[in-house]
Order: sequence, then C-alpha cells, then structure tokens
Amino acid sequence: MDYGIETRCIHGAENLLKDHAYGALSVPLFQTATFAHPGVGRSTGYDYTRESNPTRAELEKIMSALEGACDSLACASGMAAVLLCMELFSAGDHVVCTEDLYGGSVRMFDTVCRERGVEFTSVDTSDIARTESAIRETTKALYIETPSNPTMEVTDLRAMKRLAERHKLLLIVDNTFLTPYFQNPLALGADLVLHSGTKFLGGHNDTLAGFVCTSRPDLAKRLRYLYKTIGCCLSPFDSFLLIRGIKTLAVRMERQQSNALLLADWLKRQEKVRSVSYVGLPQHPGYAVNRAQARGYGSMISFHVDSEKTAKRLLERVKLISYAESLGGVESLITYPMLQTHGDVPVAVRERLGITDTFLRLSVGIEQIDDLTADLAQALEGEADEL
Ligand SMILES: *Cc1c(COP(=O)(O)O)cnc(C)c1O
Repeated sequence: MDYGIETRCIHGAENLLKDHAYGALSVPLFQTATFAHPGVGRSTGYDYTRESNPTRAELEKIMSALEGACDSLACASGMAAVLLCMELFSAGDHVVCTEDLYGGSVRMFDTVCRERGVEFTSVDTSDIARTESAIRETTKALYIETPSNPTMEVTDLRAMKRLAERHKLLLIVDNTFLTPYFQNPLALGADLVLHSGTKFLGGHNDTLAGFVCTSRPDLAKRLRYLYKTIGCCLSPFDSFLLIRGIKTLAVRMERQQSNALLLADWLKRQEKVRSVSYVGLPQHPGYAVNRAQARGYGSMISFHVDSEKTAKRLLERVKLISYAESLGGVESLITYPMLQTHGDVPVAVRERLGITDTFLRLSVGIEQIDDLTADLAQALEGEADEL
C-alpha cells in the first residue's frame, strides 16, 4: 500500500487497474449475468455475476486498498452487508453492540436476528468497563459504530480490540460515518469493517451499496461462500457508479468536513440551538479518543433546538438543505431521527440517548458555506408559535 489514500481512491493499491481493453481509462461496465466457458472445466475467471463480476471485482479491490483489507465484498445495500456479516452467527450466540446504532441495524438485530436465536446486548461502548461487563460466556463479537448514529458517541477502538482479544471475540466496526479516508479500523485490530456505500463512498445520493471488508483470510473465505449463496451482491452498474463516486472521496470528505466545522461553530451561536454534537468540536466528550484513532471528524452534526415547534418549523422551512433521510452525499440533508431513521428504536432507549422531538441530524454537503448558514438562519428565524 504505497500510494497515498487520495491516489488509492482513484487507482487502487497496485496500479493494476489500468489494463482495460482499448486503454479505456474507466473500468468497463460488464453488464452481464453470465460468462461463456472457453472449454469443459475451464473458466475465464468469471462464471456468474452473483458470485463475481469484473466491474464489481475492481470496486472490491479499491475498497480493499482503502481499508487495508485482504478482501472486500460489495453488497446491494448497507443492510445487505450487515446481514451478510450476521450470517456468521448462529442460535445461542451473543453479540455486544453500541447502544446508539444506525436504526436499521437496531431493527435487524431486534427482529430478524433475535428470531433466529442470536442475542444482543446494547451498551454505551464509549464506557469500556460497562462494555466488558456485558460480555458473557456465549459472546462472539463486539459490534461498534464510532462516531455513533445519531448522537456522535465515540468508542475507543484500541480498547475494544483489547477486550476482543481477552475474551476471544470478533471486532466488527461500522465505518460508514468516517470512511476509510478518515479511519481504518482494520489497522486498529478490527476483524470486519462494514459500510453503507450509499453514504460517503457513493457520495451522490443516487446509489445504494454496502461493503464488508476483512483482514482475515479465513473470514474472507466463509463470507465469500455466504455471499454467493445468499445473493446479496451489488449490480455491475451500481458497482460502476461506486467506482466513480470513490474517485472523489478525498476531496469531498475534506470539503464536507471544513463546511461541518464552520457550521457546527455557527449553530452553537444560534439563540434557538441548545446544544451541538460534532466530533470536531474540542468540547465534544469523544474529541481526544477520536483524534487518537482517526484522521478527521467527518461531517455529521446533531443538535437540539429549543422546542418541538422550532424543530418542525426548521424542517419545513429549509429550502437549500433537503429534509430527507440518508447522509454523506454532496447535497446537505437534515433529518428528524425520532420519526425517521430511529422511528423503530424503543422509546425508552430513544429518550435515554436524547433522540427527542427537539433533536435534529444534519449531513453537511459541499455547497458554499454562506448559502448553508443563510438557509438555516431563515429556517430558524421568527417566532416558534407562528405555525
Ligand atoms: C445507512 C446506514 C446503514 C444502512 O445502509 P443502507 O445502504 O441504507 O442499507 C448502516 N449503517 C450506517 C451507519 C448507516 O448510516
């Protein structure tokens, strides 16, 4: 892995990505379901697209180069990647996970996985002692999001690795928020890294994708078997779009982060904003831990406003920023986690985490910063009871 990460986003690790027919600069789109065999018992290296496809294989090589993985599996969505990973566990197994997870992951663990007999304990994984005390005899894995979604809690990945080693657990990290541009959990000892490629990696709010990356050949072999069996693969065209998206990952992440730093600072100074959670603010409780394990802070901000009315009014009045689920793309988006991404999270858990009716989550895009602050300013202005 000699190239810098900006270069790897475009060329992969080994500069092997240039051998395309006719010298084509971008990877050709192999929009085919199947591949003809040159003879009995012979293969071109590709047989059937559910198992592998040249366009997707190139994307997977780029992801491995970015995460420092021995293999990466491109899936149809982030949730498909989470499910693929959960196929490693069976009835009676127990997993300790970050309490404040992506809402879809909570739903999957609480329903699909639990119905199959896999048990979960959610804890505040930023608290190492509490995380260790949740480990049982049957515990097989730690499942971590850092920073978490949507409350931006930071978990110490090196500490999690020490727990995983002591108790012989797999360490699984959902790296969607920081991406390999800012954070490489495999280098800190994780066994598996998950991504929703729909977010920063794709980067344009136009394609669903997911990834499972691993540094362990034994896990890669098992995952490849499950992958071709389940059929959770990313299509060739979506693989092409992801390759295209990742080429600009470095510049997008830098711009989104610099916008987010300015916006977090601006939000803090607004009368109707009560608190701001952004990992890049030195007052953030996870600031030091994040700095020690990541190269940046990302561009996700959550904040509380003074009332439910202000929150709803802001969502209805934003013009440039879209009131929409998802995150990570070039367009800035704002969501109401209580009703959207975390609607299926039990009320008691939501309340404990502070996901209430005054809580909003902002994904900062690459627009001009003054246009973003002007839009939020006009959406915040006026009396709350005008509605
Ligand atoms: C969006 C998201 C997922 C799920 O990904 P999809 O591509 O929407 O299926 C998983 N984890 C995190 C942190 C996410 O933000």
